[in-house]
Amino acid sequence: MIWRPYVQMKNMPEPWRIVDAEGVYLRTPERELIDSISSWWALIHGYRHPEMVEAIREQASKLSHVMLAGLSHEPVEKLSAKLESWLPGDLNYFFFSDSGSVGVEVALKMALQYYVNRGEKNRTTVLALNHAYHGDTFRTMEVGDDPEYHFILDALGARRGVEHIPTEIPALEAAFERLGERLNCLIVEPLLQGAGGMKMYDVAFLRRARELCDEYDVLLVFDEVATGMGRTGNRFVSDLVLPDICVLGKGFTGGYIGCAVTAARKKVFDGFWGDRDDWALMHGPTFMGSPLVCAAALKSIEIFERDDYLSKIKRIEAIQKRELAELATLDDPRIKDVRVLGGCACVEVDKPETLDGYREFAYERGIFSRPFSTCLYAMVPYVIEEEELVRVIATMKEWFAR
Ligand SMILES: *Cc1c(COP(=O)(O)O)cnc(C)c1O
Repeated sequence: MIWRPYVQMKNMPEPWRIVDAEGVYLRTPERELIDSISSWWALIHGYRHPEMVEAIREQASKLSHVMLAGLSHEPVEKLSAKLESWLPGDLNYFFFSDSGSVGVEVALKMALQYYVNRGEKNRTTVLALNHAYHGDTFRTMEVGDDPEYHFILDALGARRGVEHIPTEIPALEAAFERLGERLNCLIVEPLLQGAGGMKMYDVAFLRRARELCDEYDVLLVFDEVATGMGRTGNRFVSDLVLPDICVLGKGFTGGYIGCAVTAARKKVFDGFWGDRDDWALMHGPTFMGSPLVCAAALKSIEIFERDDYLSKIKRIEAIQKRELAELATLDDPRIKDVRVLGGCACVEVDKPETLDGYREFAYERGIFSRPFSTCLYAMVPYVIEEEELVRVIATMKEWFAR
Protein backbone atom coordinates (compact mmCIF):
# COMPACT_ATOMS: atom_id res chain seq x y z
CA MET A 1 0.00 0.00 0.00
CA ILE A 2 1.29 3.44 -0.90
CA TRP A 3 0.81 5.75 2.07
CA ARG A 4 -0.27 9.11 0.61
CA PRO A 5 0.53 12.57 2.00
CA TYR A 6 -1.85 14.79 3.98
CA VAL A 7 -4.90 12.59 3.52
CA GLN A 8 -7.22 10.21 5.34
CA MET A 9 -6.47 7.06 3.36
CA LYS A 10 -9.89 5.55 4.09
CA ASN A 11 -11.92 8.06 2.10
CA MET A 12 -9.42 9.73 -0.20
CA PRO A 13 -10.39 10.11 -3.83
CA GLU A 14 -8.56 7.70 -6.11
CA PRO A 15 -5.37 9.43 -7.36
CA TRP A 16 -5.16 9.87 -11.11
CA ARG A 17 -2.53 7.68 -12.72
CA ILE A 18 -0.05 9.60 -14.80
CA VAL A 19 1.39 7.56 -17.63
CA ASP A 20 3.57 10.27 -19.10
CA ALA A 21 3.95 14.01 -19.26
CA GLU A 22 5.31 16.65 -21.58
CA GLY A 23 5.58 20.43 -21.31
CA VAL A 24 2.75 21.63 -19.08
CA TYR A 25 0.69 18.48 -19.72
CA LEU A 26 0.18 15.43 -17.54
CA ARG A 27 -1.35 12.43 -19.26
CA THR A 28 -3.68 9.91 -17.66
CA PRO A 29 -4.93 6.97 -19.73
CA GLU A 30 -8.05 9.06 -20.52
CA ARG A 31 -6.98 12.67 -20.56
CA GLU A 32 -4.43 15.39 -20.97
CA LEU A 33 -4.30 17.76 -18.01
CA ILE A 34 -2.54 21.11 -17.73
CA ASP A 35 -0.60 20.92 -14.48
CA SER A 36 -1.63 24.25 -12.94
CA ILE A 37 0.50 23.74 -9.82
CA SER A 38 3.77 22.48 -11.35
CA SER A 39 3.90 19.30 -9.24
CA TRP A 40 4.00 21.12 -5.92
CA TRP A 41 5.51 24.27 -7.44
CA ALA A 42 8.68 22.60 -8.66
CA LEU A 43 8.45 21.75 -12.39
CA ILE A 44 9.27 25.24 -13.64
CA HIS A 45 10.52 24.09 -17.07
CA GLY A 46 7.62 21.69 -17.53
CA TYR A 47 7.89 17.95 -18.02
CA ARG A 48 10.30 16.06 -20.25
CA HIS A 49 12.30 19.14 -21.16
CA PRO A 50 14.77 17.68 -23.70
CA GLU A 51 17.81 19.49 -22.29
CA MET A 52 16.99 18.56 -18.70
CA VAL A 53 16.49 14.93 -19.68
CA GLU A 54 19.73 14.90 -21.66
CA ALA A 55 21.77 16.52 -18.86
CA ILE A 56 20.58 13.89 -16.39
CA ARG A 57 21.04 11.05 -18.86
CA GLU A 58 24.55 12.14 -19.68
CA GLN A 59 25.56 12.52 -16.04
CA ALA A 60 24.00 9.15 -15.15
CA SER A 61 26.16 7.49 -17.75
CA LYS A 62 29.31 8.79 -15.97
CA LEU A 63 28.64 9.06 -12.25
CA SER A 64 25.22 9.05 -10.59
CA HIS A 65 26.16 9.29 -6.97
CA VAL A 66 29.16 9.53 -4.77
CA MET A 67 29.29 10.73 -1.17
CA LEU A 68 30.51 14.23 -0.35
CA ALA A 69 32.53 13.46 2.78
CA GLY A 70 36.14 12.86 1.83
CA LEU A 71 35.26 12.85 -1.90
CA SER A 72 34.50 15.51 -4.45
CA HIS A 73 33.46 15.68 -8.09
CA GLU A 74 33.18 18.08 -10.97
CA PRO A 75 29.38 18.68 -11.03
CA VAL A 76 29.29 19.83 -7.38
CA GLU A 77 32.34 22.03 -7.90
CA LYS A 78 30.80 23.57 -11.01
CA LEU A 79 27.48 24.13 -9.27
CA SER A 80 29.15 25.74 -6.27
CA ALA A 81 31.15 28.07 -8.55
CA LYS A 82 28.00 28.93 -10.51
CA LEU A 83 26.04 29.70 -7.35
CA GLU A 84 28.85 31.94 -6.06
CA SER A 85 28.41 34.20 -9.04
CA TRP A 86 24.65 33.74 -9.40
CA LEU A 87 23.30 34.25 -5.89
CA PRO A 88 23.29 37.81 -4.56
CA GLY A 89 25.83 39.33 -2.19
CA ASP A 90 28.20 37.02 -0.36
CA LEU A 91 25.79 34.08 -0.13
CA ASN A 92 28.81 32.02 -1.20
CA TYR A 93 28.85 28.99 1.14
CA PHE A 94 26.61 26.12 0.11
CA PHE A 95 25.38 23.18 2.11
CA PHE A 96 23.53 20.73 -0.12
CA SER A 97 20.75 18.42 0.98
CA ASP A 98 17.91 16.47 -0.55
CA SER A 99 14.71 18.28 0.39
CA GLY A 100 13.43 21.68 1.42
CA SER A 101 12.59 20.55 4.95
CA VAL A 102 16.14 19.31 5.48
CA GLY A 103 17.53 22.51 3.93
CA VAL A 104 15.56 24.54 6.49
CA GLU A 105 16.64 22.23 9.33
CA VAL A 106 20.24 22.89 8.31
CA ALA A 107 19.61 26.66 8.25
CA LEU A 108 18.14 26.54 11.77
CA LYS A 109 20.97 24.39 13.04
CA MET A 110 23.50 26.77 11.46
CA ALA A 111 21.84 29.77 13.08
CA LEU A 112 21.77 28.12 16.51
CA GLN A 113 25.35 26.91 16.40
CA TYR A 114 26.59 30.23 15.05
CA TYR A 115 25.87 31.77 18.45
CA VAL A 116 26.86 28.69 20.45
CA ASN A 117 30.28 28.80 18.75
CA ARG A 118 30.57 32.42 19.85
CA GLY A 119 29.73 31.44 23.43
CA GLU A 120 26.35 33.21 23.33
CA LYS A 121 24.26 30.37 24.72
CA ASN A 122 21.13 32.43 25.45
CA ARG A 123 20.41 33.33 21.87
CA THR A 124 18.00 30.50 21.17
CA THR A 125 14.63 32.09 20.41
CA VAL A 126 13.47 31.85 16.82
CA LEU A 127 11.15 34.53 15.51
CA ALA A 128 8.80 33.33 12.76
CA LEU A 129 5.62 34.49 11.05
CA ASN A 130 2.00 33.66 11.65
CA HIS A 131 0.86 31.16 8.98
CA ALA A 132 4.47 30.11 8.37
CA TYR A 133 5.22 26.83 6.65
CA HIS A 134 8.83 25.62 6.56
CA GLY A 135 8.48 21.86 6.09
CA ASP A 136 7.28 18.73 7.83
CA THR A 137 10.27 17.60 9.91
CA PHE A 138 10.08 18.33 13.62
CA ARG A 139 12.02 21.58 13.98
CA THR A 140 10.50 22.97 10.79
CA MET A 141 7.07 22.13 12.18
CA GLU A 142 7.97 23.99 15.36
CA VAL A 143 8.90 27.17 13.50
CA GLY A 144 5.84 26.69 11.30
CA ASP A 145 2.44 27.98 12.30
CA ASP A 146 -0.38 26.01 10.82
CA PRO A 147 -2.50 23.79 13.05
CA GLU A 148 -3.62 21.72 10.08
CA TYR A 149 -0.09 20.62 9.31
CA HIS A 150 1.51 20.79 12.72
CA PHE A 151 -1.10 19.84 15.33
CA ILE A 152 0.73 16.62 16.19
CA LEU A 153 3.37 18.71 17.99
CA ASP A 154 0.85 19.39 20.75
CA ALA A 155 1.38 15.79 21.85
CA LEU A 156 4.91 16.81 22.91
CA GLY A 157 3.90 19.87 24.94
CA ALA A 158 5.27 23.39 24.52
CA ARG A 159 7.30 24.30 21.45
CA ARG A 160 10.95 25.09 22.04
CA GLY A 161 11.67 28.81 21.87
CA VAL A 162 9.63 29.99 18.91
CA GLU A 163 7.56 33.17 18.72
CA HIS A 164 5.20 34.02 15.88
CA ILE A 165 4.26 37.48 14.67
CA PRO A 166 2.10 38.92 11.88
CA THR A 167 3.73 40.52 8.82
CA GLU A 168 3.33 44.00 10.25
CA ILE A 169 6.22 46.32 11.03
CA PRO A 170 4.98 47.44 14.49
CA ALA A 171 4.70 43.79 15.58
CA LEU A 172 8.18 43.14 14.22
CA GLU A 173 9.66 46.09 16.10
CA ALA A 174 7.87 45.12 19.31
CA ALA A 175 9.20 41.55 19.08
CA PHE A 176 12.79 42.72 18.66
CA GLU A 177 12.43 45.10 21.57
CA ARG A 178 10.91 42.41 23.79
CA LEU A 179 13.19 39.49 22.84
CA GLY A 180 16.35 41.44 21.94
CA GLU A 181 19.37 39.54 23.27
CA ARG A 182 17.53 36.22 23.30
CA LEU A 183 16.83 36.25 19.58
CA ASN A 184 18.66 33.75 17.44
CA CYS A 185 17.15 34.32 14.03
CA LEU A 186 14.15 35.57 12.17
CA ILE A 187 12.96 33.05 9.59
CA VAL A 188 10.48 34.00 6.88
CA GLU A 189 9.10 32.88 3.57
CA PRO A 190 9.83 36.22 1.92
CA LEU A 191 6.96 38.09 0.18
CA LEU A 192 4.86 34.97 -0.39
CA GLN A 193 3.77 32.51 2.29
CA GLY A 194 2.82 29.42 0.32
CA ALA A 195 1.37 26.47 2.21
CA GLY A 196 0.07 28.79 4.94
CA GLY A 197 -2.44 30.18 2.45
CA MET A 198 -0.67 32.01 -0.42
CA LYS A 199 -0.39 35.13 1.71
CA MET A 200 1.47 38.04 0.14
CA TYR A 201 3.10 40.93 1.95
CA ASP A 202 5.20 43.99 1.29
CA VAL A 203 8.95 44.18 0.84
CA ALA A 204 8.99 47.07 3.37
CA PHE A 205 8.52 44.43 6.10
CA LEU A 206 11.66 42.62 4.91
CA ARG A 207 13.68 45.84 4.67
CA ARG A 208 12.76 46.72 8.25
CA ALA A 209 13.56 43.14 9.30
CA ARG A 210 17.03 43.50 7.77
CA GLU A 211 17.64 46.74 9.71
CA LEU A 212 16.49 45.25 13.00
CA CYS A 213 18.54 42.07 12.50
CA ASP A 214 21.62 44.25 11.95
CA GLU A 215 20.84 46.43 14.93
CA TYR A 216 20.28 43.49 17.30
CA ASP A 217 22.87 41.18 15.71
CA VAL A 218 20.25 38.57 14.81
CA LEU A 219 20.49 36.27 11.76
CA LEU A 220 17.94 36.74 8.99
CA VAL A 221 16.92 33.50 7.29
CA PHE A 222 14.93 33.41 4.05
CA ASP A 223 13.17 30.16 3.27
CA GLU A 224 13.09 30.58 -0.51
CA VAL A 225 12.23 26.93 -1.13
CA ALA A 226 9.01 28.09 -2.82
CA THR A 227 9.78 31.74 -3.66
CA GLY A 228 13.20 31.18 -5.24
CA MET A 229 13.77 30.66 -8.98
CA GLY A 230 11.42 33.43 -9.99
CA ARG A 231 8.10 32.51 -8.40
CA THR A 232 7.47 36.01 -6.96
CA GLY A 233 8.56 37.74 -10.18
CA ASN A 234 12.02 38.32 -8.67
CA ARG A 235 14.80 35.86 -9.42
CA PHE A 236 15.15 35.50 -5.66
CA VAL A 237 13.60 37.76 -3.06
CA SER A 238 17.15 37.76 -1.70
CA ASP A 239 17.95 40.05 -4.66
CA LEU A 240 15.84 42.74 -2.97
CA VAL A 241 16.88 42.22 0.64
CA LEU A 242 19.96 40.16 1.44
CA PRO A 243 19.42 37.54 4.17
CA ASP A 244 22.24 35.89 6.13
CA ILE A 245 21.06 32.41 5.19
CA CYS A 246 18.90 31.47 2.22
CA VAL A 247 17.35 28.08 1.50
CA LEU A 248 16.46 26.98 -2.03
CA GLY A 249 14.58 23.84 -3.08
CA LYS A 250 11.57 22.85 -5.18
CA GLY A 251 12.31 24.50 -8.58
CA PHE A 252 16.07 24.58 -7.98
CA THR A 253 16.62 21.48 -10.14
CA GLY A 254 13.60 22.35 -12.25
CA GLY A 255 11.83 19.78 -10.10
CA TYR A 256 13.58 16.91 -11.86
CA ILE A 257 15.33 15.51 -8.76
CA GLY A 258 14.88 16.41 -5.09
CA CYS A 259 17.50 18.84 -3.91
CA ALA A 260 17.92 21.79 -1.57
CA VAL A 261 20.75 24.15 -0.86
CA THR A 262 21.31 26.18 2.28
CA ALA A 263 23.38 29.20 1.22
CA ALA A 264 25.17 31.21 3.92
CA ARG A 265 27.01 34.51 3.90
CA LYS A 266 30.67 34.77 4.82
CA LYS A 267 29.81 36.10 8.26
CA VAL A 268 27.91 32.88 9.04
CA PHE A 269 30.58 30.60 7.57
CA ASP A 270 33.28 32.45 9.54
CA GLY A 271 31.39 31.57 12.73
CA PHE A 272 32.29 27.92 12.10
CA TRP A 273 35.87 28.48 10.93
CA GLY A 274 38.72 27.95 13.39
CA ASP A 275 41.00 25.49 15.12
CA ARG A 276 38.30 23.86 17.19
CA ASP A 277 36.76 20.63 15.84
CA ASP A 278 33.56 21.21 17.81
CA TRP A 279 32.87 24.33 15.74
CA ALA A 280 32.15 22.12 12.71
CA LEU A 281 28.64 21.81 11.31
CA MET A 282 27.52 18.30 12.25
CA HIS A 283 25.20 17.48 9.39
CA GLY A 284 25.60 15.23 6.36
CA PRO A 285 22.70 13.92 4.30
CA THR A 286 23.68 10.74 2.47
CA PHE A 287 22.69 12.09 -0.93
CA MET A 288 23.94 15.65 -0.50
CA GLY A 289 25.29 17.29 -3.66
CA SER A 290 25.00 14.14 -5.72
CA PRO A 291 26.41 14.47 -9.28
CA LEU A 292 23.02 13.70 -10.85
CA VAL A 293 21.33 16.43 -8.84
CA CYS A 294 24.09 18.96 -9.53
CA ALA A 295 23.91 18.28 -13.27
CA ALA A 296 20.15 18.90 -13.15
CA ALA A 297 20.55 22.11 -11.11
CA LEU A 298 23.23 23.46 -13.45
CA LYS A 299 21.10 22.82 -16.52
CA SER A 300 18.04 24.28 -14.79
CA ILE A 301 19.91 27.51 -14.03
CA GLU A 302 21.32 27.64 -17.55
CA ILE A 303 17.83 27.41 -19.09
CA PHE A 304 16.43 29.92 -16.57
CA GLU A 305 19.02 32.51 -17.58
CA ARG A 306 19.23 31.80 -21.30
CA ASP A 307 15.47 31.76 -21.91
CA ASP A 308 14.95 34.93 -19.85
CA TYR A 309 12.51 33.38 -17.42
CA LEU A 310 11.99 36.63 -15.56
CA SER A 311 10.24 38.11 -18.58
CA LYS A 312 8.20 34.91 -18.96
CA ILE A 313 7.10 35.31 -15.33
CA LYS A 314 6.22 38.99 -15.85
CA ARG A 315 4.04 37.87 -18.75
CA ILE A 316 2.37 35.20 -16.60
CA GLU A 317 1.75 37.80 -13.89
CA ALA A 318 0.15 40.20 -16.38
CA ILE A 319 -2.09 37.50 -17.88
CA GLN A 320 -3.18 36.33 -14.44
CA LYS A 321 -4.03 39.88 -13.37
CA ARG A 322 -5.94 40.53 -16.57
CA GLU A 323 -7.88 37.27 -16.50
CA LEU A 324 -8.71 37.45 -12.78
CA ALA A 325 -9.76 41.11 -12.76
CA GLU A 326 -13.37 40.11 -13.35
CA LEU A 327 -13.42 37.77 -10.31
CA ALA A 328 -11.81 40.43 -8.14
CA THR A 329 -14.64 42.86 -8.78
CA LEU A 330 -17.42 40.27 -8.56
CA ASP A 331 -19.79 40.79 -5.67
CA ASP A 332 -19.75 37.14 -4.63
CA PRO A 333 -19.78 36.39 -0.88
CA ARG A 334 -17.81 33.19 -1.53
CA ILE A 335 -14.80 35.16 -2.80
CA LYS A 336 -12.80 36.84 -0.05
CA ASP A 337 -9.75 37.98 -1.97
CA VAL A 338 -8.05 37.66 -5.34
CA ARG A 339 -4.29 38.20 -5.46
CA VAL A 340 -1.45 37.75 -7.87
CA LEU A 341 2.31 37.92 -7.36
CA GLY A 342 4.64 36.86 -10.16
CA GLY A 343 3.91 33.25 -11.06
CA CYS A 344 1.37 32.77 -8.26
CA ALA A 345 -2.34 33.51 -8.44
CA CYS A 346 -4.75 32.86 -5.58
CA VAL A 347 -8.48 33.14 -5.12
CA GLU A 348 -9.19 32.98 -1.41
CA VAL A 349 -12.68 31.79 -0.58
CA ASP A 350 -14.89 32.03 2.50
CA LYS A 351 -14.62 28.40 3.63
CA PRO A 352 -12.94 25.17 2.46
CA GLU A 353 -16.31 23.61 1.46
CA THR A 354 -16.67 26.26 -1.25
CA LEU A 355 -13.93 24.38 -3.11
CA ASP A 356 -15.32 20.87 -2.53
CA GLY A 357 -15.44 19.15 -5.90
CA TYR A 358 -13.19 21.66 -7.67
CA ARG A 359 -10.48 19.07 -8.29
CA GLU A 360 -12.91 16.88 -10.26
CA PHE A 361 -14.53 19.89 -11.95
CA ALA A 362 -11.10 20.98 -13.19
CA TYR A 363 -10.19 17.43 -14.24
CA GLU A 364 -13.24 17.28 -16.49
CA ARG A 365 -11.98 20.47 -18.14
CA GLY A 366 -8.44 19.21 -18.62
CA ILE A 367 -6.79 20.96 -15.68
CA PHE A 368 -4.96 19.44 -12.75
CA SER A 369 -5.59 21.55 -9.67
CA ARG A 370 -5.30 20.83 -5.97
CA PRO A 371 -6.91 23.53 -3.85
CA PHE A 372 -6.16 23.44 -0.13
CA SER A 373 -8.01 25.01 2.77
CA THR A 374 -9.58 28.21 1.37
CA CYS A 375 -7.04 28.61 -1.45
CA LEU A 376 -7.82 28.08 -5.08
CA TYR A 377 -4.53 28.85 -6.72
CA ALA A 378 -2.25 28.44 -9.71
CA MET A 379 1.54 28.14 -9.76
CA VAL A 380 2.04 27.21 -13.38
CA PRO A 381 5.22 26.01 -15.09
CA TYR A 382 6.92 29.08 -16.60
CA VAL A 383 6.85 27.53 -20.07
CA ILE A 384 3.06 27.75 -20.25
CA GLU A 385 1.50 29.34 -23.34
CA GLU A 386 -0.93 32.24 -22.94
CA GLU A 387 -3.89 30.24 -24.26
CA GLU A 388 -3.17 27.46 -21.73
CA LEU A 389 -2.95 29.87 -18.81
CA VAL A 390 -6.19 31.52 -19.91
CA ARG A 391 -7.84 28.08 -19.75
CA VAL A 392 -6.55 27.53 -16.21
CA ILE A 393 -8.08 30.82 -15.04
CA ALA A 394 -11.25 30.38 -17.13
CA THR A 395 -11.88 27.13 -15.24
CA MET A 396 -11.64 29.00 -11.94
CA LYS A 397 -14.09 31.62 -13.20
CA GLU A 398 -16.48 28.98 -14.47
CA TRP A 399 -16.57 27.43 -10.99
CA PHE A 400 -17.91 30.65 -9.51
CA ALA A 401 -20.27 31.28 -12.43
CA ARG A 402 -22.21 28.05 -11.81
C1 LIG B 1 7.74 22.94 0.26
C2 LIG B 1 8.38 23.84 1.25
C3 LIG B 1 9.30 23.34 2.17
C4 LIG B 1 9.61 21.88 2.31
O1 LIG B 1 10.23 21.35 1.20
P1 LIG B 1 10.23 19.74 0.99
O2 LIG B 1 11.12 19.55 -0.20
O3 LIG B 1 8.81 19.36 0.74
O4 LIG B 1 10.76 19.14 2.23
C5 LIG B 1 9.91 24.25 3.02
N1 LIG B 1 9.63 25.56 2.96
C6 LIG B 1 8.75 26.07 2.08
C7 LIG B 1 8.51 27.54 2.04
C8 LIG B 1 8.08 25.23 1.20
O5 LIG B 1 7.18 25.72 0.35
